[in-house]
Amino acid sequence: MLTDVTAVIDAETFERPIYAGNAIATVKDTESKKIITVRTTAFDAAPAEGGAASIEQVSVGEDADAGKSKFVGEELAKSDRPELTAAEIVVSGGRALASGENFTKYIEPLADKLGAAMGASRAAVDAGYVPNDLQVGQTGKIVAPNLYIAAGISGAIQHLAGMKDSKVIVAINNDPEAPISQVADYFLEGDIFTVLPELTSKL
Ligand code: FAD
Repeated sequence: MLTDVTAVIDAETFERPIYAGNAIATVKDTESKKIITVRTTAFDAAPAEGGAASIEQVSVGEDADAGKSKFVGEELAKSDRPELTAAEIVVSGGRALASGENFTKYIEPLADKLGAAMGASRAAVDAGYVPNDLQVGQTGKIVAPNLYIAAGISGAIQHLAGMKDSKVIVAINNDPEAPISQVADYFLEGDIFTVLPELTSKL
């Protein structure tokens, strides 16, 4: 099985990231039936109509249910904001926010002004500031929006693995040496508690 495929070279050759995206492996799969998952941000959305593949109905038969598992239900988190992995703009906060209240006070108004999804670093999630479905990174969600704003996020390699393919990256940080400066297109050196309200009010 090939997971997290980011490019298709030919019918048997694929690319997939390894080491948190720091290296790209080119792999061959010569099986006649391939089981593959793809990184959706690496591909354009497929057109909903017009494909040429035939669709075959397959009967699973009565024996298929071994009674070992059953579908109980699904719960979808509802939010007025765009979904994190599909959003054009993402505003993420890090440990520097220091509390869930500060996410509400400083990150949410900017996200609302921009029609953006809200994201977070793992440090912010682990500290309980925001729920874990907002986590961006190697063990969170992979995003590649047109604009990614990282406020008070240092840019640890595991965070970068989830957002470094964003088209434009803006970092707001009071430490000019923070590793996120290496991937940021714009780096705003300053205190998030001053910069975020100012930015929000000027938009
Ligand atoms: P910090 O590294 O503490 O950075 C806070 C930043 O805020 C600093 O750069 C500081 O200069 C700045 N700052 C502080 N105060 C202010 C202020 N007032 N104004 C402006 N700037 C300020 N992390 C993820 O994010 N996603 C993952 O999926 C993930 N997966 C991981 C998987 C593994 C196996 C491991 C080991 C780690 C993983 N991590 C992940 C954790 C990662 O290594 C970092 O610990 C985490 O990303 C740090 O979060 P942070 O940048 O918010 O915090």
